[in-house]
Amino acid sequence: KLYNQVQDLKGSIRVYCRVRPFLSGQSNHFSAVDHIEEGIITMNTPSRHGKGQRSFSFNKVFGPSASQEEVFSDMQPLIRSVLDGYNVCIFAYGQTGSGKTFTMSGPRELTEKSQGVNYRALSDLFQIANQRKDTFSYDVSVQMIEIYNEQVRDLLVIDGTNRRYPLQVIWFSLIFNTLEIRNSSHRGHSVPDANVVPVSSTFDVIDLMNLGQKNRAVGATALNDRSSRSHSCLTVHVQGRDLTSGAILRGCMHLVDLAGSERVDKSEVTGDRLKEAQHINRSLSALGDVIASLAQKNPHVPYRNSKLTQLLQDSLGGQAKTLMFVHISPEPDAIGESISTLKFAERVA
Ligand code: ADP
Ligand code: MG
Repeated sequence: KLYNQVQDLKGSIRVYCRVRPFLSGQSNHFSAVDHIEEGIITMNTPSRHGKGQRSFSFNKVFGPSASQEEVFSDMQPLIRSVLDGYNVCIFAYGQTGSGKTFTMSGPRELTEKSQGVNYRALSDLFQIANQRKDTFSYDVSVQMIEIYNEQVRDLLVIDGTNRRYPLQVIWFSLIFNTLEIRNSSHRGHSVPDANVVPVSSTFDVIDLMNLGQKNRAVGATALNDRSSRSHSCLTVHVQGRDLTSGAILRGCMHLVDLAGSERVDKSEVTGDRLKEAQHINRSLSALGDVIASLAQKNPHVPYRNSKLTQLLQDSLGGQAKTLMFVHISPEPDAIGESISTLKFAERVA
């Protein structure tokens, strides 16, 4: 029993792989994925020399028919540990179109059944907090930011906030606001100037996520589908007070929809597009380096190499728990990207 508790307190990194189904309208293609069994995914890797295969193993592999509910099914312990005062990070990694946003948020036309990890995590969080209401009183608040070209932007501006700006200022701040990541003894690494919105139900959270997604989209029309080229991070801060002792617990959960991991051909892009690609590349490799050095118990963890890893510093390593979803597109022409995604994931698993 004690051993289990110690195991439970220890930080951990888990990697789950998820394969997107072929999209409707696509005829029955040859799939890049040969087969999936017991946490092992085997890819078809045809080359000039003929048929080839390569297998990768993870904590879990979800096939194309896995439901949102199935994907979320064993996350309760993670949610519980946030309420116990630990930090948790859940990431979605993969090339654009592989299903990151589907896993974290859901499809564009959202139904209760198709809700992604974000909604389910918060709804479990409120449910467990409610079960504990005779012994703990919890305050839950959320922030939602975006990191684009190594600049941090608040996505929760306008409604439901503690600030009221005139419209021009809102637009200005949507396009130009860039915030700093600061370290404080109280909160650890965070973005103190991004709005922190208290929430008390999943309904509040759904409204805020819609607002955040809309703000992300506003940037997108102005700057040409930027959502796949920025990291978005929904942070849930939880403060619990033990009703008998008065002791305070603080935990937080970051739910991160990463920028698309595809490599761009340097000979084909220039200017802003090249700059974006370089920023994404650098921040994703910084993330990979951090998680890999944690997995290898390396004493030096290079958190400072990107805004993303600075922000998540207190939720990666130590006693924090990390779950990374890596996403695979089934199309044969995505094999190159899929293999590099799987290699990235293998390095951190
Ligand atoms: P990404 O965020 O990685 O760019 P999306 O989540 O937007 O990718 O997914 C691309 C498309 O595939 C969307 O239309 C999405 O609804 C669909 N899709 C992704 N994953 C699944 C899935 N597991 N089941 C059904 N449709 C999916
Ligand atoms: Mg997306």
